Amino acid sequence: MAKKAFKTESKRLLDMMVNSIYTHKEIFLRELISNSSDAIDKIYYRNLADSSQTFNRDDYYIRITADKENRTLTVSDTGIGMTRDELENNLGTIAQSGSLNFKKETEMKDGYDLIGQFGVGFYSAFMVSEKVTVISKSIDSDKAYKWEASGADGYTIVEHKKSNVGTDIILKIKENAEEESYDEFLEEFRLKSIIKKYSDFIRYPIKMNVTEHKLKEDSEDEYEEVIEEQTINSMVPIWRKNKNELSKEDYENFYAEKRYGFDKPLKHLHISVEGIISYNAILYIPEQIPFDYYSKEYEKGLELYSNGVLIMNKCQDLLPDYFSFVKGMVDSADLSLNISREMLQHNRQLKRIAKNIQTKIKNELQKMLDNDRESYEKFYKSFGRQLKYGVYEQFGSNKDVLQSLLMFYSSKDEKMVTLDQYVSGMPEDQKYIYYASGESIDKIKKLPKTEMVAEKGYEILYFTEDIDEFAIKVLREYQEKEFKSVSSNDLGLPAETAAEQEANTDENKDLFAKMKDILADKVKDVRASKRLKSHPVCLANEGEISIEMEKVLSSMPNNQGIKAEKILEINTSHQVFQALKNAYENDTEKLTVFTGLLYNQALLIEGLPVSDPVEFSDSICKIMI
Ligand code: ADP
Repeated sequence: MAKKAFKTESKRLLDMMVNSIYTHKEIFLRELISNSSDAIDKIYYRNLADSSQTFNRDDYYIRITADKENRTLTVSDTGIGMTRDELENNLGTIAQSGSLNFKKETEMKDGYDLIGQFGVGFYSAFMVSEKVTVISKSIDSDKAYKWEASGADGYTIVEHKKSNVGTDIILKIKENAEEESYDEFLEEFRLKSIIKKYSDFIRYPIKMNVTEHKLKEDSEDEYEEVIEEQTINSMVPIWRKNKNELSKEDYENFYAEKRYGFDKPLKHLHISVEGIISYNAILYIPEQIPFDYYSKEYEKGLELYSNGVLIMNKCQDLLPDYFSFVKGMVDSADLSLNISREMLQHNRQLKRIAKNIQTKIKNELQKMLDNDRESYEKFYKSFGRQLKYGVYEQFGSNKDVLQSLLMFYSSKDEKMVTLDQYVSGMPEDQKYIYYASGESIDKIKKLPKTEMVAEKGYEILYFTEDIDEFAIKVLREYQEKEFKSVSSNDLGLPAETAAEQEANTDENKDLFAKMKDILADKVKDVRASKRLKSHPVCLANEGEISIEMEKVLSSMPNNQGIKAEKILEINTSHQVFQALKNAYENDTEKLTVFTGLLYNQALLIEGLPVSDPVEFSDSICKIMI
């Protein structure tokens, strides 16, 4: 029978998996058991939707069988099974969405994350197996099929006999190699401990035959070996347990088992509320950002259980958008079991839970920020942008929840600071919270227009993300201190600086008017600068739209050509200014060239394109010869 090749990407991934991805080989068992548990959940779902069916709990279980002689380990379940097509699609391709895209879209080098993103858990079986056989009968098919593969070179599918619906996964465990022993995966005792460690909270029984040494009947010292079927897992869901009984590891295992992510969560919250509404929840704040997080594909939501039974995989209504990175589950006895999606949306209980959860998450983040700055900064690196979107969205209606969680890079401390930190470090004469926008911290540091504010000893927040200025516009102020861009016309610097600038502008008003004429509607005005020290020129702006915002808006589809009102500012203490004055008095053509050059330089400094590069280059040549 002809073997079908795995799709190329799958092949590559498979190689990677076997050779490097998982550090602990033993987790293959967790992956297979989780798949089985999911498969039983799926049957459960069906029965929920179809009232003619009943779900008899005793019929659903997972069984682990080790056969040392034949070196096989079998994971069987009475779950929903797979049709021929499903075997082909689910096990013949890894990651439908394409693992290559993944590589392009993210910079994650550590393959560890890969699995989480794509759920390629099944393939981990190849870490310990030389051959994997899957025999499955779907609830939707009369026939059963056998899928088989011995590594990356391909797989076969043939019809096969199987009486009951469900799936058997038979692993032919690898022979021991020089440095690696695989025997442990056939040892009862070892298997038992792996199941306990990773899959204790699986809600269906994981059964295994276990050899017990028991006293012989009527004997006081003679033992016999008795093979007994045991349920290995406790099945009590983790969220029903007492917090004190649980270790950090338990929570981490639950996170992994549920495939909330394949990073280690930064923090977990275990919530038990009793009152008008009662619920238990386990929530996680992940450390790593899912590769599709800021794309449309990402779906927020928490698992929703009613009295221990899963009723929805991703209940979106439980999380506000700005906390959509939170993973986890909620279980409440107060929700009706066969509640429909629409009903859920209007469900008062659910709204209460959502509100409550939102407060708890906020408090947890605040606590992390106050007491565990290192973790918070990791979190902020991944999800800070989300919080800023949260401030911006819905006309700022969430700003009270979120503003104290914001951080920006500080010119003074050269690290991230909160707005509280900024405000408490302000000298008395400082009126505003200053910020400067640009592509990167290094580029902002060099921006001429930050010179004077920095010289005054005022701290400047560096905005490097598109959303930053938009979010700040919504905030307007923090603790009654207004935000002020270093490009804005009125910088609020002490009076003498402002007066000096006005006098300078006044004194040279004919020159500036001429320059404004030359530039026509490219700028709103030309003035003497109060923010420059060593540089000759910069662009400032007036009005609501800043230069950075213009850049963001113009990069959006169907932008409406919204422009910032630009002011060309000249440093009157700079030598270049003398050259301008001379040209104004003696050579109008020269003044035109100089003005054009200075304007284009200012554009370049701002990271804006020069409007006519050829003319710009010609002008430079002109002054060289
Ligand atoms: P994931 O489970 O994360 O989607 P896997 O590679 O582990 O990724 O499994 C791929 C798919 O194969 C599953 O989504 C499921 O549809 C199917 N599958 C795996 N194991 C079973 C099983 N025991 N019973 C039914 N379907 C299964």
